Amino acid sequence: MIDPDAVTANLAQVRAEIARAAADSERDPGSVALVAVSKTIPPEGILPALAAGQRVFGENYVQEARAKWPALRAQHPDVALHLIGPLQSNKARDAVELFDVIQSLDRTSLAAALAREIQRAGRRPLLMVQVNTGDEPQKGGVSPGAVDAFLAACAGTYGLTVEGLMCIPPAEDPPSAHFGLLHAIAERHGLRHLSMGMSADYPAAIQMGATHVRVGSAIFGARPARA
Ligand SMILES: *Cc1c(COP(=O)(O)O)cnc(C)c1O
Repeated sequence: MIDPDAVTANLAQVRAEIARAAADSERDPGSVALVAVSKTIPPEGILPALAAGQRVFGENYVQEARAKWPALRAQHPDVALHLIGPLQSNKARDAVELFDVIQSLDRTSLAAALAREIQRAGRRPLLMVQVNTGDEPQKGGVSPGAVDAFLAACAGTYGLTVEGLMCIPPAEDPPSAHFGLLHAIAERHGLRHLSMGMSADYPAAIQMGATHVRVGSAIFGARPARA
């Protein structure tokens, strides 16, 4: 089902598109990290991306990442893994062990669990707070009006260093207003990293200041339905 040549070609195209979007907004293309979203993609789909030098990957499910990545990482120890999906507090231990970046910090119970596991493991993934810029009830993320208090609690109560923000705009909205909002919140708090933009809209996100774009289907093709 996975065509390795297609992955290689798609990846080259996404890289070119990132370079173009960065140039359009007079940004250094090196200031935009491509997070290749490999959720549901089996190792044979990931290998061509690794062969082409891709080293930053995003996964949504702790369990799936745990099954796939240790073997791939044995071959490529310089891979950085980002958790971009919702994280249950009872999976915080696995997440701290496995991921270099956790982008989906979005509630105080999770902040407490992560603080505990970071302390225990002596390993400190870079943390980003997910913001629910569209205030959608079914979606994870801190609502924009609660972000200031949440960031204060992360630092003050839990001793966590948050270094960026992430958002997933509502599918039916034009994304730019959401990207602009995320940018403004990050600026207000002096946060360096902005994870925004997916296959459909990453060039726009780069124009709005994204430092991380999360691109799945444009690289790996349409995902198989999740069982
Ligand atoms: C699946 C996923 C992506 C990638 O989406 P594509 O449209 O396939 O690029 C990015 N971010 C998050 C949080 C995701 O769950």
